[in-house]
Amino acid sequence: MKCPICKHGEMVNGVASITLERAGSTVMFKCVPAGICNNCGEAFYNAETTKSLLEQADQVAKRGVEVDIRRYATA
Ligand SMILES: [Zn+2]
Repeated sequence: MKCPICKHGEMVNGVASITLERAGSTVMFKCVPAGICNNCGEAFYNAETTKSLLEQADQVAKRGVEVDIRRYATA
């Protein structure tokens, strides 16, 4: 699959870090499975991963934690 951002790179499977902000909480996930462009380095997450990230970030926000850094865990 070609990268939709730079249109030159190929997407390769890897892991990336992503930071989400939800209702005043900042949650950083490490080791998130992603497709990563070998040209520009942009990371893309599939729908399932994105949903899981948002759910986990919401849970952190509900606990009122301001900053949370965690390793991504598959549901
Ligand atoms: Zn790219």
